[in-house]
Amino acid sequence: MNREDFPILSQQVHNRALVYLDNAATTQKPQVVIDAIAEAYSHWNANVHRGVHHLSQVATQKHEEAREKVAQLIHAQSSEEIIFTKGTTDSLNMLARSFGDAMLHEGDEIIVSQLEHHSNIVPWQMLCERKKATLRVIPLREDLSLDTEAFKGLLSDKTRLVSVAHVSNVLGIVNPIEEIIRLAHEKGVPVCVDGAQSVPHLVMDVQQLDCDFLVFSAHKMYGPTGLGILYGKKEWLDQLPPAEGGGEMIEHVSFEKTTYNVLPYKFEAGTPNYVGSHAFGKAIDYVQEIGLEQIAEHEHELAKYLEAQLALLPNLRVYAAGLPKAGAVSFNVYREDGVLIHPFDVGVLLDRQGVAVRTGHHCAEPLIEYLQVPGTVRASVALYNTPEDIDAFIAALKKAIMMLQ
Ligand code: PLP
Repeated sequence: MNREDFPILSQQVHNRALVYLDNAATTQKPQVVIDAIAEAYSHWNANVHRGVHHLSQVATQKHEEAREKVAQLIHAQSSEEIIFTKGTTDSLNMLARSFGDAMLHEGDEIIVSQLEHHSNIVPWQMLCERKKATLRVIPLREDLSLDTEAFKGLLSDKTRLVSVAHVSNVLGIVNPIEEIIRLAHEKGVPVCVDGAQSVPHLVMDVQQLDCDFLVFSAHKMYGPTGLGILYGKKEWLDQLPPAEGGGEMIEHVSFEKTTYNVLPYKFEAGTPNYVGSHAFGKAIDYVQEIGLEQIAEHEHELAKYLEAQLALLPNLRVYAAGLPKAGAVSFNVYREDGVLIHPFDVGVLLDRQGVAVRTGHHCAEPLIEYLQVPGTVRASVALYNTPEDIDAFIAALKKAIMMLQ
């Protein structure tokens, strides 16, 4: 699917055709996105908003058009609900600061899950320390799915927010996010969805999902680095205070009293990444031209094929085997004598054969600790991957395993 649109993919690594299966960490960029960045700096670079001159007006228009595209991508009610940030991590920190300042008090509780990325743990942990609140953790069942029965038991009149990944960046599994939102809402508790691994792979509709907040990163969806999104329902964003102060986010400043700008600018202090937003807009156009459903279907088939091929190998454990996945599969291999082969060693030998995967704790140490392994090997797919990539990966993996016996 449109592999030739991604110039980086045509290169050789260690004299082998590159097989890029590290898409959960970041995706490669199509030429239209690369061109959009060059075009911005070559033709219309100027600081956005308040500029009366032509270039500033062009830059502002492009930035706001990109916001509209993001709103349409996730089916937000309005582009006022789309806040540009630096990435998922920044979005979560911003929400923790803003929501925490306004809504969290001593003794309150926030719920996350055992399989979260550090970005969806540490900001809440820091907030709980500041506010003398408690972080609660949804445990996993034996098959590594979220234990929704246990979640019901964790929800209480002390719970102020639930923040859970839609898709696990380690296991690739799609969490039962609709059920989590429904259960939380029954108790009047808002839900933040970490969509870093789901927005690139699934068709996202925040209104249908009814989540209160959604966070994700442009770079994991063929867009540039340094740009992310914090979506919030307008009724929430209206109530919450700004997380950061500075230019852009104000209506009027005096030493006696400062008043804040309207949504979404209230949350966007300083010069925004308007070149990044424009380039992300082009990435959104690109995936929409191919078709989000077609991409989701293609990646689903690839991930299924990948898992099936891995399952054929002896002495290999696929984590959360058989559970519905989007994009990523994690595994470990064992020597014939049962000793775990360190995932790092597998990753290095795959790299020598031109195959890029990620190894280690994947910024999810509590999950890795729970699995009682030093890390995993993770292969993750994107729209440009093919069954031939999977075959090349499996062939390289077989060789690596043989060498590590
Ligand atoms: N949450 C999840 C589920 C992720 O997979 C990632 C990145 O891998 C993040 C959060 C953090 O994203 P970023 O590093 O783009 O801020």
